[in-house]
Amino acid sequence: MSGWDLIVVGSGLAGSIGALRAAEQGRRVLLIEGDKDCASAWAQGGIVYPRESDFADLTRDIFDAGCGINNPEAVRNVVHDGAKLVPYWLLERAGVSFDRDSEGNLDWALEAAHSRPRILHVKDHSGRAIMDRLRLLVEAHPLIERRAGVLVDLLVSDRHDVRAPSVYKTSCCAGAYVFLRGEQRVEAFVAPAVLLATGGFSGLFEHSTGARSLRGDGIAAAHRAGARTLHLEYVQFHPTSLYVPHERRYLLTEALRGEGAKLLNMKGERFVDELAARDVVARAIHESMLHDGTEHVWLDCRGIKNFADHFPGILKLLRDKGLDPSKDLLPAVPSAHYTLGGVWTDSVGRTSLEGLFAAGEVACTGLHGANRLASTSLLEALVYGHRSADAAHEYLGSLENWDFQAQPWVPGDDEVDPALLSQDWQLLRRTLWNYVGLTRNEARLKRAERMLSDLRRDVETFYKRGKLSEPLIGLRHAVQVATLILYAALRNPNSLGTHHLDVEAQGRL
Ligand SMILES: Cc1cc2nc3c(=O)[nH]c(=O)nc-3n(C[C@H](O)[C@H](O)[C@H](O)COP(=O)(O)OP(=O)(O)OC[C@H]3O[C@@H](n4cnc5c(N)ncnc54)[C@H](O)[C@@H]3O)c2cc1C
Repeated sequence: MSGWDLIVVGSGLAGSIGALRAAEQGRRVLLIEGDKDCASAWAQGGIVYPRESDFADLTRDIFDAGCGINNPEAVRNVVHDGAKLVPYWLLERAGVSFDRDSEGNLDWALEAAHSRPRILHVKDHSGRAIMDRLRLLVEAHPLIERRAGVLVDLLVSDRHDVRAPSVYKTSCCAGAYVFLRGEQRVEAFVAPAVLLATGGFSGLFEHSTGARSLRGDGIAAAHRAGARTLHLEYVQFHPTSLYVPHERRYLLTEALRGEGAKLLNMKGERFVDELAARDVVARAIHESMLHDGTEHVWLDCRGIKNFADHFPGILKLLRDKGLDPSKDLLPAVPSAHYTLGGVWTDSVGRTSLEGLFAAGEVACTGLHGANRLASTSLLEALVYGHRSADAAHEYLGSLENWDFQAQPWVPGDDEVDPALLSQDWQLLRRTLWNYVGLTRNEARLKRAERMLSDLRRDVETFYKRGKLSEPLIGLRHAVQVATLILYAALRNPNSLGTHHLDVEAQGRL
């Protein structure tokens, strides 16, 4: 038996709750921490807190947003467990100071597509407030050991055991190869259970509201280990983010258009009803950019009264970038925002590979169906972080005489030319953005297939012979995930929700 019962990969909301819950059950946990810039910490709006009187309405809103293809079991779990777990973890254990009204009652916010106010928030930095408090709990727990590293691959019993691995037994997950950032080397960490909590893949697209490090690493590794993936063609795009070259894209809330902001093309003409549905606006912006050959459109906020009162956070951001919304047009682009699909899990967070669990944006429980209701993803990460740790605890209790000896990592030593890696990254991001992004058709997808298959061959060669580095590990994961998204899109002929097929363009070269 190794030193740990459970390895948790990723320390956003899902991973932190998973680690804390497993430790609460007395399990020894190794937490592999990636970037501190996780999506959980960047969340602005807040988290849905379901109350019993709201169960039916919240359920209906989730199904309406998801185009009805949501998994009813996942919806029920998130709504019902959320009613207990939000107060338990966030109010009692972490003591998050959510905004309150003048009488001290929780302030419930209303967001687009929600039929009533039900979102807890801390001004416009809810995610940071939640993660700062959870981090204190994680750091203080004696059963949680933390290492900074990057998941390279999952260890599986029929491939990675030094003693002639048995191909006749059920394959199960037995740990992970992790690239240790400080030491710049790969180590095999062994444990009978692994919880993947590595977040989504929005960082793979040319424009993304998430961090570049969100590449879908967990999805790629789980796929290679033999786990099933689901709904990877469904990717949610946010219509407007601030376009500043060589910087991350910052969300420009839809409330700006609600307050009268107009969208203009490079000739200064309006091209879409700004109050149309989010997906319609996002697609219209993308098509306008393609048509005009431009890098962005303009968001004209000059007519908004009391900008500073309504949007203090955005005003500060704009000023930092040298922009004045009362005088300047704001350069805006849509951005990949949320990964609706992922590693398939059942109702308790088990994947199809024994010993492997997944929670949060890396996983696909089916909660969101073909599109996501705002502010339900933090809730899903919380509920399934907890559920999957419970499932792992039960699984660990069922094991007898578990033993595994990992094959040591064999390092490559060829230097990889950084110019090649950099060009490959650009090609991948632009290919996904233009051909597998907001609007898809057969010609675009087929072109992407040819480009990605060449890229994949080259990257595998670097990976087999090259000296490992984080960009190379990330690129290998990224090409794998991009290919999975592409084939999921090619296989699904139904234009629904965020998987939008331009039927008129089918057959066009
Ligand atoms: C700008 C923005 C605003 C948002 N606002 C809201 C909101 O208001 N409400 C809401 O409900 N949702 C919101 N979302 C979505 C929500 O934040 C995410 O869905 C949720 O936080 C996902 O949590 P997670 O724990 O699964 O992943 P994350 O929080 O992304 O954490 C994943 C962690 O895994 C690490 N990791 C990745 N790859 C590896 C690897 N190979 N090895 C080791 N570690 C790795 C990452 O570095 C990261 O630390 C927002 C998202 C963004 C980007």
